[in-house]
Amino acid sequence: MSRNLEISKYLKISQKYLDFSTTMVHTAEYLPATGTSISSVLQGGYNHPLSREWQQEKQLTKNMFIFPLFVTDLPDEETAIPSLPNIKRWGINKLIPYVKTLVDKGLRAVILFGVPLKDGVKDLVGTAADDPEGPVILAIKALKKAFPDLYIMCDVCLCEYTSHGHCGVLYDDGSLNTEQSALRIGAVAVNYAKAGANCVAPSDMIDGRIKDIKTGLINAGLAHKCLVMSYAAKFSGNLYGPFRDAAGSAPGQGDRKAYQLPPGGAGLARRALLRDMEEGADAVIVKPSTFYLDIISDASRLCKDYPICAYHVSGEYAMLHAAAEKGILDLKGIAFEAHQGFLRAGARLIISYFTPEFLEWLEL
Ligand SMILES: [Zn+2]
Repeated sequence: MSRNLEISKYLKISQKYLDFSTTMVHTAEYLPATGTSISSVLQGGYNHPLSREWQQEKQLTKNMFIFPLFVTDLPDEETAIPSLPNIKRWGINKLIPYVKTLVDKGLRAVILFGVPLKDGVKDLVGTAADDPEGPVILAIKALKKAFPDLYIMCDVCLCEYTSHGHCGVLYDDGSLNTEQSALRIGAVAVNYAKAGANCVAPSDMIDGRIKDIKTGLINAGLAHKCLVMSYAAKFSGNLYGPFRDAAGSAPGQGDRKAYQLPPGGAGLARRALLRDMEEGADAVIVKPSTFYLDIISDASRLCKDYPICAYHVSGEYAMLHAAAEKGILDLKGIAFEAHQGFLRAGARLIISYFTPEFLEWLEL
């Protein structure tokens, strides 16, 4: 009996028993078998949670994470920052107990941002940035004493400390005095290194500061003990609002577009990366991260012998929190997805406000 005869017989029996009548005469069809080519089969390679992890070329580990700490000159300060969920500003007396909770979970590195809150501290040249009694230098010494193995990085910039809120020293017409700015920033970096910082990370984006910092460290006999991590590709844009709330560093007049990179300027970013390597940077930062994965990828090729750090900035962090609060996405899931993206693009290090969570989420 042919296959079609068998099927029509079965249909007649079905109609009889089910009291079911249909006018459909269509029968299911199959494409002719062609065989599956071996190269088209991928799913066997990631059908298990462990084999999915094996597919990652690089895996997130605790030692990649650098946690930003905002340290104020009010010793007993502990203030939440509404636009930056779960992040606080800390006074020197509250800092050590807080950091201990993170060190106990495996925290390896922090980056310090000073936040002067006292009246009358800011001036035209950011004198308070490297005040020996200021928050950053006091924090370096306190952290070093409490946690000798913790890697202490210092953001180096003047904007938190200048009365005009710009990252350098200005001419009378309000434009940036590049030479004086770089020399002043160099002096601040050297003073942080003298206080014991393991790394200085200038975020000002002013031409020539890497050369001046490196020269200053050499002259101070500290170049062999202090890593210079350049914010080489730092773009101006719309993602720094919560940070400026935290650090009180919004410019009083104008903006930073004359020294931070324009968002479309991929070529400028590549030139800045190359220049900063030439001037003595030991590592480079790309900032922001999610919207600049192509720049991270460029950096990983251009600076392939250097650690590349992605900075997941305050606005990116706050956006993910806001989306999670609205039920649009799962916070832990999107945090992993974002940070895995940085590794995929070529980053080895990540400055992240999610660090405390990843210390909980990661085993190693
Ligand atoms: Zn700045």
